[in-house]
Amino acid sequence: MKDVVVVGGGLAGLAAAWRLRHWDTVLLESGSRLGGRIRSERRGRYWLNWGGHVFAGQGSSTDVLLTEAGITAAQVPGSLAGLAMNGKLLLKGRIETYPFRIPMPLSSRVALVKTGIKVGGQVLRYANIVRQRPGEDPAVRQQRVYDFENGRSFRDFVGDLPGDAEALFRPTVTRSAADPDEISAGAGIGYFSLVWNMGQGLSRGIVGGPSTLTEGIATVLGDRVRLDTEVVEIVHKQRSVVVRYRQNGMDREVEGRYVVLATPATVSHRVAVDLPQDIREALGKIVYGPYVSAAFLTDESTPQPWDDAYAIATPKRSFNIALNQASLLRGSEQVRQPGSSIMTFSPAGLARTLLEKSDEEILRIYTDDLDQVLGSGFGGSVVESQVQRWETGAPYCFPGRGALQPALMRRGSRVLLAGDYLGTLYTETAIQTGFSAAQEAVSLLATERQQGRVRSLPLAAG
Ligand SMILES: Cc1cc2nc3c(=O)[nH]c(=O)nc-3n(C[C@H](O)[C@H](O)[C@H](O)COP(=O)(O)OP(=O)(O)OC[C@H]3O[C@@H](n4cnc5c(N)ncnc54)[C@H](O)[C@@H]3O)c2cc1C
Repeated sequence: MKDVVVVGGGLAGLAAAWRLRHWDTVLLESGSRLGGRIRSERRGRYWLNWGGHVFAGQGSSTDVLLTEAGITAAQVPGSLAGLAMNGKLLLKGRIETYPFRIPMPLSSRVALVKTGIKVGGQVLRYANIVRQRPGEDPAVRQQRVYDFENGRSFRDFVGDLPGDAEALFRPTVTRSAADPDEISAGAGIGYFSLVWNMGQGLSRGIVGGPSTLTEGIATVLGDRVRLDTEVVEIVHKQRSVVVRYRQNGMDREVEGRYVVLATPATVSHRVAVDLPQDIREALGKIVYGPYVSAAFLTDESTPQPWDDAYAIATPKRSFNIALNQASLLRGSEQVRQPGSSIMTFSPAGLARTLLEKSDEEILRIYTDDLDQVLGSGFGGSVVESQVQRWETGAPYCFPGRGALQPALMRRGSRVLLAGDYLGTLYTETAIQTGFSAAQEAVSLLATERQQGRVRSLPLAAG
């Protein structure tokens, strides 16, 4: 019997398996690669990226994992607040000035200023809500964040806006994977807080690309990882848990004293059949929105206007943001080297439209829009491009989501939940909940050992 069976090889499962690496563990992953919604690939000095791209900074669980695994991350040097709209590309200056620098009808400009003041006031309130109070349990803070303006949608909060005003607000809110009428008002406001307070929150890049972290951990875990292994059912016994899985067309099972269940909530709801009813019901109510992303490798040899930008919001396009994945390299160059790596990102309604199309069609639409946004030479400089579909791109905070949190946080069974759906900071939540589940497992195993039920000791560190 294993001490712990980890199910799911995304960041949450990998963080848990990393913390449990001196115990007798196995990690079961249904896909043929580790990383889940983290996916990047090296191309010489550049990397293509399709998934999570910016990460939490100092003092975060992400920072601890990166340090322990010996992976380098740095603040992305490029601006996080570029904007391309109505034929204008803005890469510098204060965001408050943008509505006056983008050509648009007066009605939209007036609505933007009015709504900007309204949202700005709530962003100040939000800053107070998210602040960790001294000595406070992080779970209490997380509940407060979920409960903030959780009774209505962001659309209900801002009301109907004229065309260009609505278009300018949309890319920030929909990064959540939800459209403005799907996301709660509080979560929408939280996104503006994240974008306006640049430098805080998620703004570090991983040198070599995000998969450097997941692949680094995978190397250390070695043969404790089983790929192409789909878990279909998890059932408690009196003092253990049976994990049933399918591998190479065969049904198999493994028994563990504890399970860290780090699959998306939709899967966890389906496979963990005997979890307490309220927890299982809460898992079934988590909602994910879709993303479509694409990565472009280019070979241009001259400096580009967007070299100093990391993120450029692109209202009214097929993607809502273009991300310069060469930003970390640009920041350390004396002389601009040839080539670049650009990621496009279409959430929620934009993704739903694209998901119906072929990859070739999506790439053609993206390239046309990139030509408009970054300059007409862009398409000609592309040497490689690839689409990724994420049907469960991210869990979002909908009106009423806060009420599910107490059940999801309750422990008591031998199946310990982990994953980004348990909090509001994506990769940071995934890693933090993976660590927390691992710590709980270690603590319970230690107690069982004292009681003489576990004979195994942690393996020698190394
Ligand atoms: C395009 C995109 C951009 C993003 N940008 C950012 C960003 O910049 N910053 C940020 O912080 N976050 C970002 N995110 C979100 C971030 O990637 C996720 O929050 C995080 O990676 C989730 O990790 P996880 O371990 O909780 O889930 P996942 O990564 O989904 O891992 C779950 C794993 O479980 C496996 N699995 C599923 N079913 C089974 C089964 N039955 N048996 C075994 N294994 C199973 C899956 O294959 C997967 O590997 C982005 C996501 C996307 C898609």
